[in-house]
Amino acid sequence: MQFIFRSSAYFLGICLFLFACKTVSTTSETVGNNREVAVDTSGLALSSNRKELIRDKEAKIREYRPSRERDFDLLHTELKVRFDYSSQSVIGEAVLTLKPLIYPQDELVLDAKDFDVHRTSLHLEGKSIPLSYKYDQEKLTLFLPEKVERHDTLKVNIDYTAFPERGGKAGSVAITDTKGLYFINPDGADKDKPVQIWTQGETEHNSKWYPTIDSPNERQTNDFYLTVPDQYISLSNGTKVSSKNNADGTRTDHWQMSLPHAPYLSAMVVGEFAAVEDSIDGLVLRYFVEPKYERGAEKVFENTPEMVRFFSALLDMPFPWPKYDQVVVRDFVSGAMENTTLSIFMEELNLNEREALDSEWDYIIAHELFHQWFGNYVTTESWANLALNEAFADYSEYLWLEHHKGRDEADMHHFNAIEQYMDEAEEKQVDMIRYYHEDSEDMFDNHTYAKGGRVLHMLRKLLGDEAFFEGLHTYLKENAFSSVEVHHLRLALEKVSGKDLNWFFNQWMLSSGHPQLKVSWDYSQPDNILLTLEQLQDVSRFPVFKIPFTISVYKEGQRFEQSYTMDQAFQQFALENGPGTNLVLFDEYSEILTKREEARGAQLMEKQFDWSESGLARVEALDSLTSNFSETIDFLPTMGRALEDSFYVVRELALHRLNRLNASEEQIRQLEARVLEMAEKDVNSTVRSAAIEALAGIGGAKYAPLFYRLINAPSYQVSGAALTAYLDIEGNDSDKKELFERLKSEDNIRIIAPLADYLTIEKIAEGRAWMQEKLGLLKGESLYYFLGYYGDFFASVEGVPTAEAISSLGGIASDHRLNYVRLAAFQSLFGFIDDPGVLELVKSIQSEEKDEMIREYQDYYLSPYLEGR
Ligand SMILES: [Zn+2]
Repeated sequence: MQFIFRSSAYFLGICLFLFACKTVSTTSETVGNNREVAVDTSGLALSSNRKELIRDKEAKIREYRPSRERDFDLLHTELKVRFDYSSQSVIGEAVLTLKPLIYPQDELVLDAKDFDVHRTSLHLEGKSIPLSYKYDQEKLTLFLPEKVERHDTLKVNIDYTAFPERGGKAGSVAITDTKGLYFINPDGADKDKPVQIWTQGETEHNSKWYPTIDSPNERQTNDFYLTVPDQYISLSNGTKVSSKNNADGTRTDHWQMSLPHAPYLSAMVVGEFAAVEDSIDGLVLRYFVEPKYERGAEKVFENTPEMVRFFSALLDMPFPWPKYDQVVVRDFVSGAMENTTLSIFMEELNLNEREALDSEWDYIIAHELFHQWFGNYVTTESWANLALNEAFADYSEYLWLEHHKGRDEADMHHFNAIEQYMDEAEEKQVDMIRYYHEDSEDMFDNHTYAKGGRVLHMLRKLLGDEAFFEGLHTYLKENAFSSVEVHHLRLALEKVSGKDLNWFFNQWMLSSGHPQLKVSWDYSQPDNILLTLEQLQDVSRFPVFKIPFTISVYKEGQRFEQSYTMDQAFQQFALENGPGTNLVLFDEYSEILTKREEARGAQLMEKQFDWSESGLARVEALDSLTSNFSETIDFLPTMGRALEDSFYVVRELALHRLNRLNASEEQIRQLEARVLEMAEKDVNSTVRSAAIEALAGIGGAKYAPLFYRLINAPSYQVSGAALTAYLDIEGNDSDKKELFERLKSEDNIRIIAPLADYLTIEKIAEGRAWMQEKLGLLKGESLYYFLGYYGDFFASVEGVPTAEAISSLGGIASDHRLNYVRLAAFQSLFGFIDDPGVLELVKSIQSEEKDEMIREYQDYYLSPYLEGR
């Protein structure tokens, strides 16, 4: 599964005040002799201490999350389902084939949540015997007429109606994510939304729509017969083997999955979709989207064949399943989900052809695809080991970027993931593999994903590519169609590499924390530089890490690498680098997951910028030079080189900093031609848009004709930047009016945002209807960004009635399904806070908010208005 993580910075730039009150609780160890018959108070303290310790340790036993015990082996599920759109229910008939795993059994317990069970029976040797059962809305216990042995195969039949909307933890915010099956716009009342059904099984939610053993350590083959209204298509796991029209205007599609997979990976999608067909080496690939996004989907998913080819070659293992479909649905509950042969994506991947030019969704496509090996072919035995699915899927994003765009872009992605993990580590530090956790949903965090991917990166660097990827091949091959825990991975890698890896797995996966490294240098002997490393983390909670690392030595135009291992908390290394050394760098590619402290002056940063072959290290150096040393840097050569850098992030950063440095007009003028060239021709749209912004800063008016022309650029990024720059120039009123008329029907936020800004700045009250229309049209992140513009317009343009805006914002702030959109609307309401009733409105919205994190942010906005009133 792919979550879209939103850092605290995303939530409108508030930093970590929410977590500041959390303190770390540590249980101090008791030292002393408890057997002493003590009547004094210290003895009482000891015995109460012992009681406390025992309570803690007993609690620990209760918190342990074992893998599910298996009484039966579920072999096959035959399922016939149809849908009642009016009551949002699923009418199903399931036939499950099972065997006792080893011990004789006289009852069978199935997961079946919020069903009406109509009939249960047992098929044994050609007979059908009604079964008595017990049902508590979660577990369906079938009482077998006699004990069955391990060599018996039984078939049980369950007729039921499932109500995904029922049940759940009342009042919990998680409830919307645990329905298992979702009816989207089932009555068709929303004219802007298609009618769809889709499912989301992870973690244990598919038992909301069919009876099963809903555990990742179970696996089954299946035949699903989906009866759907004839105007819709159906999608499911495996291949569609037949399709039959029924007299009542429905159609029954038979989907067959003949290779075993875990129940949480079952899926169905029903709706109106266009299909883009593709293939690679005989494997059928299809991309399903709403019909109007068909041309966009050709572009958004265009790298899928190459990804399949690349990953298959890397793992030396062909795609393990008979086909691969990807479908984009509405209102999805996470980023995407890797159901076997059928990945489902959130609607942000619905792009029109022009938007698709700037599509940045390759990483999520790679992530779900890699899961087809890591997660689906070989599956974690329990959610405690979720990293065995997600760390690999996360790391596939790096692998794909490295292959497709080069190491620098991959390293940038890697660096962002480190930041995400470090952000989360401020708040909690837990083991990556966690047998102790409260709720399985808690496992879907940046420890499992971002840290997991970084740990695999270190493992790859430790073993080398050949051993690492061959080890993964062995791991997959030896555990095909099985469930795994972390040791399976270690044993496979040890087998192939011949190395012991216990220490690595213990410190990175089975312990929490990360090294906090202090790096210092002594250059007094330039031929033999002394490196001092110190681990500063709290060693009462975290390990002293064993850290293999690399030093890069740049000498006489050549680059050398020297390898070392740190295995003490404080350690010094004499580098014996020899004469003619220009530069030495510790962990040049930021491979180690660490919070690094290293004092580096301007001179060193300049050298790092000039010499380093790592794009990431050059970004770091340029960032430091232009922020920490902006007074002293040699502006022209540094910026001149940065604008020519092969890595686009360096070029983009240089453009963003260009007008913020202490440069003379003359110096800027010398770079202007290059910036102009970048605005016109850079291969990267992000860089082009940054170059347009830089030109606007240099002297907007003279570039008006250029900006006006670039508004027509195919890329929305370029076009939007040009539009912003043009509208910011004073004058040209009639041209601006004409532009508004020409572009007002666009529905891309990069165009809408500058137009909205224009209406507000020019105080064009007639823009009211357009603002309202766009508010109704935008979704997700676009809506999030638009809400600020919308609020500004209604709050600041005179003569515009505010009641409509307040009511729209109030509705979004209370009801929108996305928490960050609710929060943005809530914040926009403060533009009207002095209007009658608005303070009461925001207070009541806050009191109704179910999401605790959002409520705390709301508190923050609200607090100044509560004091003194
Ligand atoms: Zn995933």
